[in-house]
Amino acid sequence: MSTQTAQTPPGARQRTRSCATGLVCHRCGNRYPLQDSVFACPDCGKGLDVVYDYELAARYFEEVPSSERPRNIWHFEELLPIVDASAQARVGLHAGYTPLIKADRLGAELGLSNLYLKDDSTCRPSLSYKDRVVSMSVARLLERGKEEIGCVSTGNVGTAVAALAAKAGVDAYVFYPNRLEDMKARACAALGAKVCQVEGNYDEANRRCRELAEATGMDFANITLRPFYAEGAKTAAFEIVEQLEWRAPDHIVTAAAGGTLSSRLHKGLGELQLMGLSETEQTRIHIAQPSGCNPIATAILAEEAEVHPVTPETAAHSLAIGAPGDGYLVIDAVLKRGGTAGFASDPEIFAGIDLLASTEGILTEPAGGTTVAVLEKLVAAGRFAPDDTVVAIITGNGLKTLDDHPPKPWPAKIECELDAMLTALNELKSAGSLIDQARAQLHP
Ligand SMILES: *Cc1c(COP(=O)(O)O)cnc(C)c1O
Ligand SMILES: [Zn+2]
Repeated sequence: MSTQTAQTPPGARQRTRSCATGLVCHRCGNRYPLQDSVFACPDCGKGLDVVYDYELAARYFEEVPSSERPRNIWHFEELLPIVDASAQARVGLHAGYTPLIKADRLGAELGLSNLYLKDDSTCRPSLSYKDRVVSMSVARLLERGKEEIGCVSTGNVGTAVAALAAKAGVDAYVFYPNRLEDMKARACAALGAKVCQVEGNYDEANRRCRELAEATGMDFANITLRPFYAEGAKTAAFEIVEQLEWRAPDHIVTAAAGGTLSSRLHKGLGELQLMGLSETEQTRIHIAQPSGCNPIATAILAEEAEVHPVTPETAAHSLAIGAPGDGYLVIDAVLKRGGTAGFASDPEIFAGIDLLASTEGILTEPAGGTTVAVLEKLVAAGRFAPDDTVVAIITGNGLKTLDDHPPKPWPAKIECELDAMLTALNELKSAGSLIDQARAQLHP
C-alpha cells in the first residue's frame, strides 16, 4: 500500500507509514534515537516528545485520501510513533475515530448555536479517551519485544490497559490507588488483568510504580512508555478538525488530570497547521478541573508557569492527579492559544452529568460532568461568541461510575396491576425532571 512497504526487502519487518524521526527533551532539547528506551531526559529529568519529518508526512498524507484510510486510531499513522506494522496490527483496530456530535439541545440550553461533542465516552474498547493513549503504549511494548505491561491508573488507564493487553495477548498488571470506583477495578479483573490496590493516592502510587519499573524492568503504559502514550492523545485533535471538514473549531474544552490530552491537542493542532491541512492557529484550548483538584487551572488563572501540587479531594476520581506531570505543557498550550481554565465543585460536576444526559442522551462520568459544568461557566463569563464553533470533549462513560452518582428518584415496587400502575404513573409525571434539577444546580 505505501511506498515504504513496496521497498521493504523480503523477510524484513514491514513498516508503517510513520514519519517519526526521534525523541527530543521538552526542556533542554537533547535528542535521542526513536529506538532508545529512555522515557525521561537523563540530563534534566523532563519528559520526551516524539518528533517527525513533516515534509515527508505531508507527502505520504496526500498519497492516500482520507476516505481510503481506516476509521480508527491509525487514521493519521504518519504522525504516530509506531513504525513496526506487526506491532500495530497486534494492537488492533478498535480505538479512536469516535463521533463528533452536533449538540443542539445542550447548545440551546447554554446559548451556543455551534456546539459539538467529541464523544470519547464511546471510545473502543474500554469507553474512555484512554484507549487512544494506551493503544500507543501497547504497540510500543510490542515493538520492544516485550510481553508484560504494567500501569498506574486513576481508573480508565487500567481498563484500557486490561482490554488492549488482552487483545494483543500480553499480560497486564494494574496498580490502583485505593480510593477509586470499584467498578473500574472489577472491570480490569474481568478483562483478565492482575489488579492490585495500593494505599494512598494516585501521586503516591505513581512514584512507587516508577520505582517498581526501575527495579523490575517491566514497562509501564504511562511511565516508561510515556512519550509514546502521549502521542495517542493527538488523534483527538486530528479527528475533530477532519470531522469539521478541516475547519478547526474556535474553541476546544476538555478535562485535565495529568495534562496529556490538553497539551497534545495543542501539539496535534500545530501539526495540522505545519502540514498545511488546516488553519488551526485561532483554536483556543480551555481546560476543566474539579475544585477539589485544580492545580493546573489555578496556575493558568494566576498566569504562573509551573504547577503547585495539591492533595486531591474530589468525586471525579479520574481527574484526581495532584502533581500533574504534563502540567507545565498544558499551561504553555492554554496561554499560547489564548484559552483559559475553570473548575467545578462536586455538586456542579454531577449537575453537568445530568445536563448532558437530559439534553443529549449521553451518560458520562464525573470527568465529562466537569467539562460540561465548566463549559457552562465559560459561557456565563462571556468567553464565547454565540455562533463560535465550540467542541467539548466527553472523555469517559458514566456506566463505569454509576455507583458514585447521587441516587435519582426511583419508584417504589408496586403490584403488577392496572390501578396501582396508573397511580404510580401519575406520581412519576408530577416528579421533577432531570433537566430542571440540573438547571437549578448550574444556574440558580
Ligand atoms: C485521564 C482522563 C482525563 C484527563 O486526562 P489527562 O490526559 O491525564 O489530562 C479526562 N477524562 C477522563 C475520563 C480520563 O480518564
Ligand atoms: Zn532535557
